[in-house]
Amino acid sequence: MGETEVPLVKAVDMAKKYGDFIALHPLNVEVHSGEFFGVFGPNGAGKSTFIKLLTGQLKPSKGLIEILGINAVKDPQKLKANIGIVPESESPPSFLTPVEFLEFVATLRNVNDFKNEVEYWLDWFGLEEKRNTMCKDLSKGQRQKVMLAAAFIHRPKLLFLDEPFANLDPIYQRKCRQWLLDHVENGGTIFLCSHVLEMAERMCNRMAIINDGKVLAAGSVSDLKLSNEETLEDVFIRLVGRSIEDMERFNEEGISEEE
Ligand code: ADP
Repeated sequence: MGETEVPLVKAVDMAKKYGDFIALHPLNVEVHSGEFFGVFGPNGAGKSTFIKLLTGQLKPSKGLIEILGINAVKDPQKLKANIGIVPESESPPSFLTPVEFLEFVATLRNVNDFKNEVEYWLDWFGLEEKRNTMCKDLSKGQRQKVMLAAAFIHRPKLLFLDEPFANLDPIYQRKCRQWLLDHVENGGTIFLCSHVLEMAERMCNRMAIINDGKVLAAGSVSDLKLSNEETLEDVFIRLVGRSIEDMERFNEEGISEEE
């Protein structure tokens, strides 16, 4: 990875407000080819907002976003054709079967020999028996497997995953984790959001911890630890706990000033 290499993910001064509420304060991020980058934070920290901005699903309130050199704000359709996205808690269309949905996605993504690819992924996720069941009648975990298969099927170099394993059993969590690690080993790049810190330890070579829409720290897992004894959970509680205390102090001071 050369110093001058163009980052696959680049956001400069990116911020997002929903009405008056600041969901993400201005931040900069770069992810280079071959990295496994994770964003971790508690519920409501801004993780999904972060990933939706980078993948062109949401427009930023300000800032520049370039993914694979594509302007994510101006050209979200071109962007979506070139990346894989596993959105949080979204399901495949209710009235399509896994085969129909995966064939649709594979055709849309110009996958060669798409029928064989669909069979490969149905088999990989153990979904053959459910191949002709409408997605509305699948379990949560089975629907998540269909969404993961749809993201993997065109084997995109750059994958964005939002809480990708929330509904998977431990066997498929491990299988998917290994697939993602192999994907990176073979030249892929991954941007992942989660509140499950275990994923950072096992998978990420770089991570950011966010809370209340702010980046509290970023770096490798070992960069973030104050000592070898500190676990990542300790780091998380230290940083997020401090940020909550700061927020509470700010609110109290705000109130006492008004009184
Ligand atoms: P996370 O993924 O870390 O749980 P989100 O990015 O989903 O967090 O949300 C960050 C904050 O933005 C939360 O306080 C949430 O309530 C708020 N938020 C998310 N989406 C919207 C929306 N469409 N309108 C208003 N507020 C939103």
